[in-house]
Amino acid sequence: MSGVKVRNWQLNRDMDFPYEASPPDRQFAAVFDINKCIACQTCTLACKTTWTSGRGQETMFWNNVESKPYGFYPVGWDIQLLDMMGMEDWRGKTYKGKTIFEAAPPGEKALGFHPQDEDYAHPNLGEDESLGGIDGGTYMDVPHGVWMFYLQRICNHCTYPACLAACPRKAIYKRKEDGIVLVDQTRCRGYQECIKACPYKKVFFRETTGRTEKCIGCYPKIEKNIQPQCVTTCIGKIRIAGFLNPPDKAREDNPIDYFVHVKKMALPLYPQFGTSPNVYYIPPIHVPTKFTEQMFGPGVDKAIEAYKSARHDKKLQGILVLMGSTEQIIHHFKVSGDVAIGFDEKWNKLAEVPITEPIQLRKYYDKERDVYRHSIS
Ligand code: SF4
Ligand code: SF4
Repeated sequence: MSGVKVRNWQLNRDMDFPYEASPPDRQFAAVFDINKCIACQTCTLACKTTWTSGRGQETMFWNNVESKPYGFYPVGWDIQLLDMMGMEDWRGKTYKGKTIFEAAPPGEKALGFHPQDEDYAHPNLGEDESLGGIDGGTYMDVPHGVWMFYLQRICNHCTYPACLAACPRKAIYKRKEDGIVLVDQTRCRGYQECIKACPYKKVFFRETTGRTEKCIGCYPKIEKNIQPQCVTTCIGKIRIAGFLNPPDKAREDNPIDYFVHVKKMALPLYPQFGTSPNVYYIPPIHVPTKFTEQMFGPGVDKAIEAYKSARHDKKLQGILVLMGSTEQIIHHFKVSGDVAIGFDEKWNKLAEVPITEPIQLRKYYDKERDVYRHSIS
C-alpha cells in the first residue's frame, strides 16, 4: 500500500495510512460507560427522529445499541472482519499484527467487506441473549459464567478514517475545527467504497438519493458547545462527549482526557483495526476479559481495576457523577469537598453535583399540614 507513516498511539507504534495526517485543531470524542447502559434505546430514537426519519433512511441507524456477544447491526459487522484479519497479535501494549490499512488487498485502501441488504433488516438481532446456559448449582460470581452486555455504537469520528481513505471522489472529509467526519453530499456519487472500508459499518447507503450518509456528531450542537442528542437524552447517564487531546497534551481537568489518558479507564473499540476511533468505552466488569480484550485491546484489566478503585477515589467519583448532569460540553472539572463541578471552556460553572446523595428524613407527622407521611424508601 502506498501512503505515509502516521503515529497511532492506540497501537503504540507507527502505521501505514494512505494520506498525510492533517490533525484537526481539536478532536471530538466521547466516553460511554457500558456498565450503566440499560438498552432502553432512547439514544437510538433520539438520533433517528433528529436525523434519519426521512424516506430511504428506514433501516439506517447512526446510533444503535446491540447486545454482545450475539447482537450485531448490521449482521456480523465485526466478526466478519475479525475473521478476515486472522489472529490478532498484541505484544504487551504494542500491536504487531496488521491494521486494515496494512492488510489492504492490492489496489484497495483498506481490508473490508460490503454487508448485504438483508444484514440491515434486523437492527436488534440477538437482544438480551446470553452466552451459555445456567446449570443447576450455578452461583453468581465475577466475572459471570453466563453473560451478555450492551454495546452502544455511533461513528467514531476516527483520527485515521477508513471511510475517508477509501473514497475515490474525496467526498469525505474531517473537519479542521473539531475532527468530525462528514460526507459531502454534493461530491458523493454513491460508489459505496466507504461502506466497504469502514470497519465499524457506520456509513449507510440511501437509495432515494443514491448517496451515502453517516453520523454527523450533531455538529450544529457541538458548534454551540452542546453535547449530541444520543448523549443528552441518555436515560442511564452513561455518556459524556467533549474533546480529547493527544496523550502528550492530556489535561487532568478535561473529563475525556482524564478517563482515557490519565486513568486509562476508557478504551477504544477494536483498536487493532487501526483507524484510531474516538469513542471510548469503560468495559463491562462482569464479562470474562478474554472476550473484552479482543474488543478493547490489552488495557481491559487495568481499566476495570481503575473503575473499581472509584470507591476510594473522590475525583473519579466526581467525574462519574458529572456524566449526564448538563447538556453543555464540560471542558474542565474539579472536585471540591463532596461536590463535583463542571465548567465550560472559560471556567463558567455548568453543573454542580453532590458526590454523596444527601439524605432527607421526613417527619412521620407533619404538624404544619396535618398530614402523615409514610416513607416507602
Ligand atoms: Fe443505553 Fe443510554 Fe442509549 Fe439507554 S439511552 S440505550 S442507557 S446508551
Ligand atoms: Fe469513518 Fe467508520 Fe471511522 Fe466513522 S467509524 S470515521 S464512518 S471509518
